[in-house]
Amino acid sequence: MKLRPMPRATAKEHKKLVRTSIKAGTNILVIGGGHAGLCAAISAREAGASVVLLDAAPESMRGGNSRHTRNLRAMHTEPTATLTGQYEAEEYWQDILRVTGGETNEALTRLVIRESYPLLDWLSERGVKFQPSLRGTLSLDRTNAFFLGGGCALINALYRHATQIGVAIHYEKEIEHVELSDGTFRWAETKAGETFRAGAAVLACGGFQANTDWMVEAWGDAARNFLIRGTPLNRGYVLRDLMAQDVLTKGDPRQCHAVAIDARAPKFDGGIVSRLDSVPFGIVVNRAAKRFYDEGQDFWAKRYAIWGRLVAMQPEQIAYSIIDHKMHDLFMPSVFPAITANSIPELAAQLGLDASALTDTISQFNAAASEATCDHTILDGRTTTGLQPNKTNWAQPLDQSPYHAYPLRPGITFTYLGLKVDHHARVQINEDTAAPNLYAAGEIMAGNILGKGYCAGTGMTIGGVFGRIAGINAAAGLTI
Ligand SMILES: Cc1cc2nc3c(=O)[nH]c(=O)nc-3n(C[C@H](O)[C@H](O)[C@H](O)COP(=O)(O)OP(=O)(O)OC[C@H]3O[C@@H](n4cnc5c(N)ncnc54)[C@H](O)[C@@H]3O)c2cc1C
Repeated sequence: MKLRPMPRATAKEHKKLVRTSIKAGTNILVIGGGHAGLCAAISAREAGASVVLLDAAPESMRGGNSRHTRNLRAMHTEPTATLTGQYEAEEYWQDILRVTGGETNEALTRLVIRESYPLLDWLSERGVKFQPSLRGTLSLDRTNAFFLGGGCALINALYRHATQIGVAIHYEKEIEHVELSDGTFRWAETKAGETFRAGAAVLACGGFQANTDWMVEAWGDAARNFLIRGTPLNRGYVLRDLMAQDVLTKGDPRQCHAVAIDARAPKFDGGIVSRLDSVPFGIVVNRAAKRFYDEGQDFWAKRYAIWGRLVAMQPEQIAYSIIDHKMHDLFMPSVFPAITANSIPELAAQLGLDASALTDTISQFNAAASEATCDHTILDGRTTTGLQPNKTNWAQPLDQSPYHAYPLRPGITFTYLGLKVDHHARVQINEDTAAPNLYAAGEIMAGNILGKGYCAGTGMTIGGVFGRIAGINAAAGLTI
């Protein structure tokens, strides 16, 4: 990939701004104020450092993607106040190994797993409240601890604590350049040329999914049709700047967490409500009104995260989930109402699809489906036969009007290409050398753990664990 350096202040402007904006006495600069950055800033401050946290967002939008979250995945050897049963380290490791297909750094992943358990108490002691895990849609009551009040409440609690202990927080500071010399961090600079110098820096400024130009480089024009589920500010400026300085990266620019979301969701920040759970209850067709994947391959909790990529591969990156009346109340209600019609041709007209093509697809599906009632609580094996592709569970005819449809688009959660780090959270400058005072945590280094695939709740665990490690080590290694 060809990397263009970001435009920066001229040498003269730069000199003037350095004089006016150096934060005297700052030991540690944290760039990015989501979960990872807050965990780093708090840990460094509690270790005695003076800490400045910068975020691109205005205060009203602080908290990045973290404010959209609901839970984090934690190992535990016995039931806790918020987690049922046991979730041993080995099972956690096997889960990550399976979803990544082995594209993961085992030592770093096992570190994340080990530290996920103490992270729960650490967050609680700093004001984050957890609730008993919810039974239901995603069956995560054993593995994932849910934040009471969601990610916003977690973010507010951590900001409150960080402020109380003396972390200096500056909003609307979007860093575009990180100055390194001899592999050592010197200062960070905004587009306007405002400069922040410190003895060490923690980079916690997310992935690059909100940078449409970069996504187009990776995916082609298809990326223009992607919706970004979280903040518009995770544009990867710092990652790109460091790549232009030949700092090591980990991961593939096309790998990301992507789910199929309601196509009517906003371009950015739609959050969790735009997700749709209707897919296994009916069929999904593309712009040509053709089915393209087995909608009943497995339980939805295990398959929802592949559908973003599947829709991304379809013409114009759009698809339509279609169900009939008998299925309408069987899944979590959608935030946007279904598009409804009394006949298939009328539905096709509303969706802008070819009516005879959609009628043919549904007639063929109905002829190949089972007449028996489906049981969505089990993999019931009620499969179509003779279709390409077959629907291998819950295949029931769509024959009761009114018919309902939801348009689907790829909803990108976060990208996996990031900085390569070591187990101290230090950024690897090259294969042999880690920067002595530059650290990374959260989405910007998640690719070390997640080469591909995803286990629900690991994003926040990676950020929390590596945020703490980065903050502690940055404070311990200070030279000023
Ligand atoms: C809708 C949604 C639901 C999710 N649900 C879950 C869940 O339940 N559990 C889970 O584990 N994960 C979930 N995730 C993923 C999770 O949000 C991330 O893995 C996690 O928040 C990463 O934390 P972070 O601190 O690295 O990034 P973020 O929280 O995104 O923080 C990055 C911060 O950096 C700032 N920033 C970006 N660029 C710059 C710059 N150049 N200069 C200064 N500041 C900058 C941004 O403004 C932002 O505040 C979800 C994500 C989304 C979008």
